[in-house]
Amino acid sequence: AIEIQELDKWYGDLHVLKKVSLSVEPGKKIVICGPSGSGKSTLIRCINGLEPFQQGHIQVGGVKLDAPAAIQAVRRKVGMVFQHFYLFPHLTVLDNCLLAPVHTGLRSRAEAEAQARELLERVGMRDKAQAYPAQLSGGQQQRAAIARALCMDPEIMLFDEPTSALDPEMVMEVLDTMVMLAERGMTMVCVTHEMGFAREVADEIVFMDHGEIVEAGPPAQCFTSPKSPRLKAFLQAVV
Ligand code: ATP
Ligand code: MG
Repeated sequence: AIEIQELDKWYGDLHVLKKVSLSVEPGKKIVICGPSGSGKSTLIRCINGLEPFQQGHIQVGGVKLDAPAAIQAVRRKVGMVFQHFYLFPHLTVLDNCLLAPVHTGLRSRAEAEAQARELLERVGMRDKAQAYPAQLSGGQQQRAAIARALCMDPEIMLFDEPTSALDPEMVMEVLDTMVMLAERGMTMVCVTHEMGFAREVADEIVFMDHGEIVEAGPPAQCFTSPKSPRLKAFLQAVV
């Protein structure tokens, strides 16, 4: 579970998160949307301790994000997939997947390899285990990044616009992978403007604007009868 209470963050004078509160129960899928600069990435990055914040509380999987040791503990529970794939270019897909579980001592190399191969199979990348990132399409790289994150047995997966840098024909294969994860019960927080995905998978849509959560609710409600004029305008622009 994720519990965020009255989170405030500034970059210098710029107030980028304003009293943001959000709770995500185990197994739930949250989709965060909103205009550029509204604070979506900043919020996601705060959840796994990539960004410090000035006020409020974040608790992830029972651990309060308040000290470096806690941040390490939280990062072990949370997998993250970004817009631009950050696979290590000098390592094969398989070695990308092995790095964290072996390095942190979570698994022996043999165990990690067996698990990585199973996860690569699950994301449709079994035959690319020995390929280097540069030899893969964008969609394949992103699916490899998802498999790599899953190799750490995350309790929660965070996605920050995982499909927005992809060519249109590769978007579906990544969304399908995310749907598969959702169906297997993963707790997910996804920043995405893929409204079809949001409608299909999200338990809750969270609409942000100017650092605030302006509106939140089930997709049926947010998409068909948005309350705030800002969400109405946003939906008209993206659909
Ligand atoms: P996008 O849809 O374009 O990805 P976003 O909703 O993810 O936007 P953020 O990246 O969270 O928005 O940015 C929120 C605000 O914080 C923006 O005004 C941005 O310019 C500012 N910002 C983000 N990162 C930094 C930084 N490292 N230093 C200063 N300001 C920052
Ligand atoms: Mg962003």
